[in-house]
Amino acid sequence: MSDLRVSERVAVIGAGLVGSLWALMLARRGYIVDVYDRRPDPCLAGDVGGRSINLALSERGWKALDLAGVQNAVRTIAMPIKGRRMHAVDGSLTFQPYGREEGGRFGEGECIYSVARGSLNRLLLEAAEATGQTTVHFDHKLEDYRQDGEGVTLHFGEQGEPRCDRLFGTDGAFSAVRMRMMKADRFDVEQKYLEHGYKEIELSPDGAGDFQLPSDGLHIWPRGHFMLMALPNPDGSFTCTLFAPYEGADSFAEIANADAAQAYFEKHFPDIVPLLPNLKAQWTDHPTSSLAMVSCEPWHEGDRVALVGDSAHAIVPFYGQGMNCGFEDCTVLDGLMGDGGVKDWSTMLAKYSSLRKPSGDAILELALRNFIEMRDLTGDAQFLLQKRIERKLAQQYPDRWVPLYSQVTFTHIDYAEALRRGDVQRAIMRQVMDRPDIDEIWDNEELLNDVLQSALDLLDKK
Ligand SMILES: Cc1cc2nc3c(=O)[nH]c(=O)nc-3n(C[C@H](O)[C@H](O)[C@H](O)COP(=O)(O)OP(=O)(O)OC[C@H]3O[C@@H](n4cnc5c(N)ncnc54)[C@H](O)[C@@H]3O)c2cc1C
Repeated sequence: MSDLRVSERVAVIGAGLVGSLWALMLARRGYIVDVYDRRPDPCLAGDVGGRSINLALSERGWKALDLAGVQNAVRTIAMPIKGRRMHAVDGSLTFQPYGREEGGRFGEGECIYSVARGSLNRLLLEAAEATGQTTVHFDHKLEDYRQDGEGVTLHFGEQGEPRCDRLFGTDGAFSAVRMRMMKADRFDVEQKYLEHGYKEIELSPDGAGDFQLPSDGLHIWPRGHFMLMALPNPDGSFTCTLFAPYEGADSFAEIANADAAQAYFEKHFPDIVPLLPNLKAQWTDHPTSSLAMVSCEPWHEGDRVALVGDSAHAIVPFYGQGMNCGFEDCTVLDGLMGDGGVKDWSTMLAKYSSLRKPSGDAILELALRNFIEMRDLTGDAQFLLQKRIERKLAQQYPDRWVPLYSQVTFTHIDYAEALRRGDVQRAIMRQVMDRPDIDEIWDNEELLNDVLQSALDLLDKK
């Protein structure tokens, strides 16, 4: 923890995952931090606002948690997920490891980690409060703010108008801070909805409290333009999420009621139906939620206001990177603040914005592409062969061929650079997969070396 003592008062709007972590990092630097959230406290502990109950935490997230001194605490509530388990309509299963079987952050191979949103949020907020530098104010909905030469006035309606020196908007995809920034000159925003929505269904533990599916995998039922996913929770349950279009074939619009939902599951995901005896009740009780994408620029307003997390870059969840990207924003901001404190906030925040905006755009593009891969390709024999070839390359030449998924999930390579490298690798793999004899020769050393050489040539040509 920094021994620097700073008299500045910083407001963090939004006590979600990113706001809590950023508050903790600021507090450790000695700032006096006020975190405001529109939700009441018990709500934050239980209800998670209709959004995913669990999340996949990966390397970028861990690095930020490490920096904030809470990695070991989070480790106790995180469970390793080693790969994808694909379920075909006929019930057959395929396993695809995410990364290398050795190494990895905790020496258990390269894996992602499932964490409960509520537990992680609570842990981060409590750690921020434990610094003695942070106060959390629930039931405070930011309506507006005004900057003047001396600081920022926050408007919370009946809750008052406190002042602060700096303001960070970590208030999510529909950020009030961003809405206010839209009034500033030359601030660009784009918001779009995915044509798909999602609904979560819980798969309970069996009578003995055990998992009803193998717990080391993210289960996927890829069905072309829609899919079901299941991510395990430490309590023995799984959170299943159906991603389907709102309209058209196989859409939510076609599932008029709980009986139709039962029939839909029996047709498309028959192997999970016996494990979901209360599917109909859950279908009726749980909302269908939309997925918004937001891109904006710049991520700051002058030297006093900045956006961090979903408020700056709401993305679709198909790479499991939204929170990880927000945590990486915190790592980058913390790095830019340097050891001796910030001397020029305007320059520092402008640098943060110009560094992170391309990364935010890149991870949105990667996540959209991964949706197609997950729902459409993970059940495809040629795609699985391509993955096998890439795995072999990665095993033999770990420093020279890092698969795109690994770059995004297990490294700190900038998302924009990962996207660029991934495009080069994709072009190369397309050539390889187009060979008519690929099924017979795929584990041929000579072919592999050709592939690697052309990859290196292209990758070096920046
Ligand atoms: C289905 C789904 C699955 C996902 N899975 C993953 C995953 O596996 N891995 C991953 O990394 N990411 C995942 N994500 C993305 C992840 O949920 C988000 O990126 C993350 O929650 C962003 O955190 P945040 O703190 O920026 O915003 P949020 O979590 O949205 O928090 C914003 C906070 O601001 C508060 N707030 C909003 N407006 C105001 C206001 N006016 N005044 C005061 N407070 C306000 C809200 O109450 C909330 O507490 C998933 C998202 C979805 C939808």
